Amino acid sequence: MSKLTDINYVKGVLSKHGFTFSKALGQNFLVNPSVCPKMASFSGADAQTGVIEIGPGAGVLTHELALLSYKVVAVEVDKRLPAVLAETLSEHDNITVINDDAMKMDFHRLIQEEFPTGEVVVCANLPYYITSPILMRLLEERLPVKAITVMVQKEAADRICAEPGTRASGAISAAVHYYCEPEHLFKVSAGSFLPAPKVDSSVIRLKIRKEPPIQAADERLFFKVVRAAFLQRRKTLSNSLSAGLSLPKATVTELLVSAGIPDKARAEEMTMQQFADITAAVYALG
Ligand code: SAM
Repeated sequence: MSKLTDINYVKGVLSKHGFTFSKALGQNFLVNPSVCPKMASFSGADAQTGVIEIGPGAGVLTHELALLSYKVVAVEVDKRLPAVLAETLSEHDNITVINDDAMKMDFHRLIQEEFPTGEVVVCANLPYYITSPILMRLLEERLPVKAITVMVQKEAADRICAEPGTRASGAISAAVHYYCEPEHLFKVSAGSFLPAPKVDSSVIRLKIRKEPPIQAADERLFFKVVRAAFLQRRKTLSNSLSAGLSLPKATVTELLVSAGIPDKARAEEMTMQQFADITAAVYALG
């Protein structure tokens, strides 16, 4: 069992470095010994596959990833943590810690410089306050990675993995399904963290697709349509699209009819193909 799941050890190292948890940075560190080995093995990290980790914290997941992979690059925004990590991960010589903001990081450059050959995966217990923007950044930038295995709040996991066209789906479900095949791996209870958050979490894996599941007339317009459709969740699709795309209601009704979609339909009822059909109809407007 890793010493990084021994609460007394973790508390001792953190206090030695004068570290106190920052809520604003989403700092809830894993202390349940069964979670990180499982996450690391699902991530695809191995002797030929490098890993990018976002937010290593005190290094509990980093340690498990470094046991499986030839190289782990961990990006941590908190200036206080590299000194902690130098101590907690001192037994490893295959970990690079970069003190930077994952929202601003140039990941293409990082991959070119740190992983010039071989496959790369992303694995992280994501700070909850930037779950969606980080995931969307990684996906939209089309990073050359095989899979993204992340822990997120359970509700976010449900939304991200929901099949478009089902009640639980949202704009992020359609975006995620466009780029990858998401799957729920396992749940993690709130008591697995120090300090314990208010809600449970889930580990999900996003396997990057080689080709999107549908052909969009225009990729940017497809995402604009999806965002507009979910802008006002409680309203009908035609109202949301009219507001979100700044189009007259009559034009939207016409284009929905041309795409074979009932006027009273709601965004969460739309499949990926139907979003593509709406995009084609909007595209045809010129
Ligand atoms: N991986 C550790 C674990 O599982 O115990 C820590 C996970 S904690 C939920 C999230 C981590 O992300 C924290 O270490 C936090 O400082 C870091 N973090 C927050 N915002 C970040 C950002 N913009 N870029 C990089 N790291 C960030």
